[in-house]
Amino acid sequence: MKTIIDKDLCIGCGVCEGICPDVFEMNGDIAIVIVDTVPEDLEEDALEAESQCPTDAISHE
Ligand code: SF4
Repeated sequence: MKTIIDKDLCIGCGVCEGICPDVFEMNGDIAIVIVDTVPEDLEEDALEAESQCPTDAISHE
């Protein structure tokens, strides 16, 4: 699974990093994805972060 952040929608709240810091990291005012592919054992947490993002900036494929 690949996770993507729409940087135009991210408001830098830090929720995603709080839920899944092995995938998401704050980089200044926005979050970035720090893995190329989300490892299987982190998929659940990454999807949880996606569902908790207040601006729906996170998606996956
Ligand atoms: S939860 Fe969403 S809005 Fe908040 S930092 Fe992460 S991607 Fe940005």
